Amino acid sequence: METFDVAIVGAGPAGSSCAAFCAMAGLQSLVLDREKFPREKVCGDCLNPSCWPVLERLELAERVRDLPHSKLCSVDFISLNGRSVTVDLPSGGDGEISVKRSLFDDLLLRRAHELGANVHEQTTLTGLSRTEHWNIETAAGDLFQARIVIGADGRNSTVAHLCNLLPRPARERVALQAHIPLPRTFGNRIVLQFLPEGYSGQAPVNETQLNLCLVGTPPTISKLHGWAERQFQLPADQGWRTITPLTRLPVPSAHDNLFFVGDAARVVEPFTGEGIYYALRSGELAAKAVVNILRGDDRTSVLHEFDRAYVQMYRGRLWINRLARAAVLRPQLGSFFVHAAGINPAILKLLTAKIVPSSSRHSERSEA
Ligand SMILES: Cc1cc2nc3c(=O)[nH]c(=O)nc-3n(C[C@H](O)[C@H](O)[C@H](O)COP(=O)(O)OP(=O)(O)OC[C@H]3O[C@@H](n4cnc5c(N)ncnc54)[C@H](O)[C@@H]3O)c2cc1C
Repeated sequence: METFDVAIVGAGPAGSSCAAFCAMAGLQSLVLDREKFPREKVCGDCLNPSCWPVLERLELAERVRDLPHSKLCSVDFISLNGRSVTVDLPSGGDGEISVKRSLFDDLLLRRAHELGANVHEQTTLTGLSRTEHWNIETAAGDLFQARIVIGADGRNSTVAHLCNLLPRPARERVALQAHIPLPRTFGNRIVLQFLPEGYSGQAPVNETQLNLCLVGTPPTISKLHGWAERQFQLPADQGWRTITPLTRLPVPSAHDNLFFVGDAARVVEPFTGEGIYYALRSGELAAKAVVNILRGDDRTSVLHEFDRAYVQMYRGRLWINRLARAAVLRPQLGSFFVHAAGINPAILKLLTAKIVPSSSRHSERSEA
């Protein structure tokens, strides 16, 4: 049986980024995903501008810009009583865009394949054990071997579960997502709307479709669903995707010949729309560590450097995540912020600028 240098489980942005960077460095890279691509994914579809430098390094930025997408110019925060505050987003070619995950993730996976990664779709990881190397078993009974394994399989990571590392999920919240017809006058904006039962995020993804996300608790999600049906005059047979949990404790990223990247390592609050960036960047950081380990660099120094860069990626940002989480768990608090911002928009502008950096601040954030 062929032994791969690295096996990457999951071909979302974290797994495909990691696979592409590993393949670019000449590693024998295996990618497994249970889905057949292109596939949709519960997500707001918004690409934070911090993604651009990683996409440039993958030589993908132009190809992403060639996908059907919307350039996003502003965010409207809407309080419980309908009051709205608008914050402008950075403009220009490397600003925030929204693009369907089916298109974006497929492009990333094709790039990994193009660079030489061995891609297996519709291949579900079911077993993982370690002898001299990692032994990887799939639902179809296929066996693979690899020196290093990357868990890039999302918030309910099977890799973490099989290694007894998956924290107990808090099923306190649930998200619904759909692509619906774009209302004619919607414009190129993101809407983040507080509702008594949770919140809704909305963004156009092309000229005809709106990404609509609803986040609530298991008992309230049906009310949010009803609100969306009335608000957007949706047919009863509108298709929805769903995901849970929205929060869980992080899994440490670096282990012995095992790394976790993207949501598998840390799930961030969807409200801030940064998960894809963390996925792409952590995939890149893990690839760098894998390359250095396999070429025989001192393992302790490699892991130390990986940890430093990984922590740097989140530095100064997790408190915004906690703030966003507090605001969405108590919509009255979120609404209070919107009202306060109506009187003095500086704080909301500052927070938005921290989450959605302008191009001059990209490199500072991504070059950890
Ligand atoms: C409601 C909501 C809205 C969001 N909006 C945004 C947004 O607008 N912008 C943003 O940047 N982020 C957003 N996020 C977060 C973003 O979706 C995630 O952070 C991102 O998808 C993480 O990428 P990933 O590659 O780590 O995992 P995923 O994208 O989840 O990919 C994991 C892959 O692993 C595969 N897999 C899972 N188990 C197995 C297995 N056993 N075997 C083989 N394959 C497996 C899956 O099929 C999947 O393809 C949102 C999240 C939610 C819930």
